[in-house]
Amino acid sequence: MNNPYSILLYYCYTPIEDPEAFREQHHLFCLELNLLGRIIISKEGLNGTISGLKEDCEKYMAAMHADPRFAKIDFKVDYSDKHAFAKLHVRTKSEIVHSGLLHIDPNARTGKHLAPKEFKEMKDREDVVVLDVRSDYEYSVGRFKNAVTLDIENFREFPEKVEELKEKYKDKKILTYCTGGIKCEKASAFLLEQGFEDVYQLHGGIIKYGMEAGGEDFEGKCYVFDNRVAVDVNTVNPTVISTCHVCGTKSDRMVNCANPVCNLHVPICEACGWELDGACSSECKEHPEKRPYDGTGYYQKELNGYNPLKGFNRKKKTDVQV
Ligand SMILES: [Zn+2]
Ligand SMILES: [Zn+2]
Repeated sequence: MNNPYSILLYYCYTPIEDPEAFREQHHLFCLELNLLGRIIISKEGLNGTISGLKEDCEKYMAAMHADPRFAKIDFKVDYSDKHAFAKLHVRTKSEIVHSGLLHIDPNARTGKHLAPKEFKEMKDREDVVVLDVRSDYEYSVGRFKNAVTLDIENFREFPEKVEELKEKYKDKKILTYCTGGIKCEKASAFLLEQGFEDVYQLHGGIIKYGMEAGGEDFEGKCYVFDNRVAVDVNTVNPTVISTCHVCGTKSDRMVNCANPVCNLHVPICEACGWELDGACSSECKEHPEKRPYDGTGYYQKELNGYNPLKGFNRKKKTDVQV
């Protein structure tokens, strides 16, 4: 297949002195390169997932690496036949991933980074616990074999779960993992702060593990935050772990319910998809606002009124072409 687009996933914990000024400048730069996606900027760094033409993404990566603050960014690069986003959002927030752990600086102390191959080599040892620090909707589609998962809907609930983990696994080596590595920076640092002694993190997350270790023993698909919803990472021993919301057969076909009021995001098998015309239940199938089903279960969000320069101070830059 011809894949002229790249999808980049990256983060960097690095001090950014004036996040608002940087945001404006960075937003403009992304527009210039016709990039789409989501970038979050804060005093502690930046977190992004974007798509664009391969050449444009290469220019973006080169420019970032030329800035000493971002020289160490490890970009995870995937290829696609189209953009993975419909819009560009560049925003400032108090944290680049919402954890409530503002006091933690992963540059000062964090779990030891493991390259995908080192992780693969360590994960099945007796004295090791593999800990998934992601949310329930993510690991329900895919996770490492024998991973410990947490009953959380959002990463900000992670700190509350650490007491339980301490009771069970205090003396074990903990190997944390997440999608691209960013959550582990703070999660593993927090575990150290809470008294765990031997804490490691999968560098580059599941995505890099798929690229460099064939995704071995990752069961199911990896949930991602773009139009692809979930991607394959395991080319060694792939399996399906999720089940159809309607009939219970194994399925990793993630869809949104065609009833926009419900919009439930669950696996629904191909057959049930057609049977219920894209809805998650017969009630939703009959809903007056139900959207037409095209077999994908993906519904483009309304672009009406979308302005790529939203929140951008136009007075300062009059040379921007929209
Ligand atoms: Zn089904
Ligand atoms: Zn529904």
